[in-house]
Order: sequence, then C-alpha cells, then structure tokens
Amino acid sequence: MDWPRTPVDRLQDFRPTFCPRENCPHHTRPDGFRYKKDGSYPTARGIRVPRFRCHECGSTFSRRAFSLAYYRKRPELLRPIAAGLQAGSGHRQLARSHDCAPSTVTRISAFLGRHAILLLWRALAALDGQLDEAVVLDHFEIFELTQDLPFGVATPVGARSWFVYDIDPAPHARTGRRSVFQERRRKKRARRPTRGGYLGSTRRVLDHLLPLRPEGRRLRIIGDGHSAYDQAVAQHPRAEDIDLERHPNPRRGPEGSPRTACAIARDRALFPVDTLHGLLRHSLAAHKRETIAFGRRLNAICERLFLAAIWRNFVKGVSERRNDPTTPAMLVGLTDRPWKWERVLGRRLFPDREKLGGTWLELYRRDWVTPELPSNTRHRKVYAY
Ligand SMILES: [Zn+2]
Repeated sequence: MDWPRTPVDRLQDFRPTFCPRENCPHHTRPDGFRYKKDGSYPTARGIRVPRFRCHECGSTFSRRAFSLAYYRKRPELLRPIAAGLQAGSGHRQLARSHDCAPSTVTRISAFLGRHAILLLWRALAALDGQLDEAVVLDHFEIFELTQDLPFGVATPVGARSWFVYDIDPAPHARTGRRSVFQERRRKKRARRPTRGGYLGSTRRVLDHLLPLRPEGRRLRIIGDGHSAYDQAVAQHPRAEDIDLERHPNPRRGPEGSPRTACAIARDRALFPVDTLHGLLRHSLAAHKRETIAFGRRLNAICERLFLAAIWRNFVKGVSERRNDPTTPAMLVGLTDRPWKWERVLGRRLFPDREKLGGTWLELYRRDWVTPELPSNTRHRKVYAY
C-alpha cells in the first residue's frame, strides 16, 4: 500500500503531484501535473509553508492543502483526540484535558472518521484480488439516540489476520419485550429509512468483498446462521462464488453448565469477530454498558467505528499481552510495521481521487440522517471536502 512514512507537514522538499482543487482536471489525472513555486508564508510558530501555483487552473495552494492540518485551527489536537477516543474517553473528558470546547472534539471526531473512511477505502483498493482467507461476519448491535432506534453494524473480519474489511450499518426495528408506555413512545418516533436492514447490509458487504478475492477463488464467509446471511448469499447474482459456513448460536444451558461441543465449535469459528466486538465495547466510551456517552446519530457512530477499524488494522498489535506488535495490516501484506497515529494522520486524502462510492460515500457526506433529531448537518465543503 502506497502510504508515506513521514507526515507531509514535516517534508522539507515537498513536491505536489496533483492539484488539490477538485474542479481542476489535474486533480484526478494520474500524471503530467505542472506547477510553479509561489513563495511561502510563515505560521504562528515560525515554520515556513511553501506555496505553489497550478499551471492548468492557475489556482494557488500551499503544502498544507495536502495535510490534515488544512483548514484546522488547532491541528495539534488531531493526534491526542484520535488516541483519546480510542482509549475510551468521552468528548467532554477530552475537551477538559485538551482545553478546547466539547463541540471541537465532536467535529474533530467526525473529521477523523472521514479520514478513516478514505484510508480504509485505499487499503481495500490495495488488497484488490488478494483476499486469501475466510471472512468472519457478524453484526455489532448498537442504538442511535434512544433504544427505540437500534441498528446493527456489519463487521467482516479476516479469520486469520483479524483485519476489519468493512463497516456497514443495518438499521432495524426494536425487538424484545417492552412495556405499554415504551411501545406507545416507540410508535411516535419519526420513521427512518432502513436501507434493507440486515439483508441490505449483508448484500453490500458481499459486494465489497467479492472483488478482493483472487481470480477463480471462492469467497468463504463464516457466519452465525443469521437468516439474512443465508438470504443475501442465496439471492446474490454471484451466489455460486460464495461459500457460507453457518454456526448458529446454540441454546445455552443454565449458568455454570458445561458448554456443548457445538457451542465450542461456534465460539472458535467466530472468535475473530467476537474479539473485535469485545474490543469495541471495551475501548469506545459510547459502547460500554449503561453509558451516558452513547451516540446520537448513526452516521456519527459509524465515523467512530471507521476510526476504530483503522486503529485495529494498522495501529494495535494482534496481542498486547504476548507483546506481539504484528498488526492485521501487516498480516494481509499492506505494510511491514505497526503505524503510529502520526503516520495514520500523515496526509490528507481526497474522496474524488480515491473514487469513493456506495455506502461509504453516503457516510462521508453524512447523508445517513436520523429523522428523530431536529437537525442533521451534512458534510459539504468547497475546499476542505
Ligand atoms: Zn489546478
């Protein structure tokens, strides 16, 4: 995977290879980009930032247009907030420790999520045709705003590498027992689009994974026997290329009774995805039991999960207990060493250049709205998009 080791802000002799303006033909054209040096400007800390002028569209831009610091008032907050969110802090706690407003943390969290979407997209593009392991699929159960609005998030994980390949939400109706009052309140909630629920989400995951397998190889999915997985595979136009291994959740006996052979086999097969879900519940404030730090908006929760996926794939070693720094990204051959947050945040990615599409582009644009909320900010920017 093509990803520089030195953050762009620290490069002495930075040379742009494309124009950062999205309406310029040289924004996406792979080569032939010509530019002129156009002076420099000093930052408040006295660092000189070089400027350039595009030969094609004539616009000027600085080195910062290629870094995550672009358009940010406090770029120094990006790294500690990324690390803090991943260490289980809530937005307010982070705002207190870094002396900024809680809304700043919320905005940075969304921004980091968008970066994570693009980075994971780029990683998958590099893995095209190289998926040589089974993928364990399960939905992570959460709710947005209130327990009346639950949704699952598909989290396909590599059976051998534990690499997180996708994040795909599946809004669904509230299940389980509820009181008369709860049911009356639930019915008054604004209707939200489910976009196919579990079935739609599973289908999108299959569409994402199929191009990753090598020519002539079948895609092997290990699931917990969810009926939506059976249906999605059976209805898929490429069903003959997919093997679905089912491990239904066995009926558990009374507490303390020994596990059946079937239960042991299920736990072993789904271990990679169960571990990921345990890790998410343990390290993200919003997913701890009985928390008040829960997410208010599906789109924002997914942004956070993308950041968690990047951390899981590139930063966190497979086992901290055994002091093994090997990361899932190393096991799938994307990189040869664990990444620090500096490297993850080393440069800016552009949705047009990465050719971002599908659900991920909708999430990037914050188009998955929560109708129950009075306002849903979309992400539309001219320069810092
Ligand atoms: Zn240009």
